[in-house]
Amino acid sequence: MPVIAYIGIGSNIGDATANCRKAIELLSEAGRVVSVSSFYHTESVGRHEQDDFINAVAAVETDRAPGDLLKACQSIEDRLGRKRGVHWGPRTADLDILLYGDLVCGLPELTIPHPHMALRKFVLAPLAEIAPDAMHPRLCRTASQLYRELKDPHTVIKCRQETKKT
Ligand code: AMP
Repeated sequence: MPVIAYIGIGSNIGDATANCRKAIELLSEAGRVVSVSSFYHTESVGRHEQDDFINAVAAVETDRAPGDLLKACQSIEDRLGRKRGVHWGPRTADLDILLYGDLVCGLPELTIPHPHMALRKFVLAPLAEIAPDAMHPRLCRTASQLYRELKDPHTVIKCRQETKKT
């Protein structure tokens, strides 16, 4: 049975918007991308000397097991040129599994729901936009409830929709 997984996407190196777009395009390798949030311009969390991020969330209907989905996300990060090493450092593409159906999984290499998702405006703003009723299975709160109750002072601004050139 396919599951809906929500993937958080972020970039703050080079053309961050193009990197996020490319990551979303490549996500179709892991399943059917059923919705994508607006892009958000977000202040970096944890390390202030680095550039702001572009963040978004995509919903993917997938047959892949959680571990396989993580591998697919990491392969996309690698192909977009991510250098691993600096925790919370700059990155061309960061893909996190936020939710995977109602799965709760506490392995260090794969924690679902993602351990920081309920604390970050850059995650909850786009998630609540596309899936306000998505349930956090540990906290038993929906994305929109978590977003409303959130106290994260970091700036998160929805990017203007691009008008398509004809
Ligand atoms: P980060 O640098 O924040 O992208 O963290 C990457 C590490 O987090 C990898 O070693 C993953 O195995 C681990 N990880 C644990 N849970 C998750 C998750 N839900 N989504 C993505 N990576 C995860």
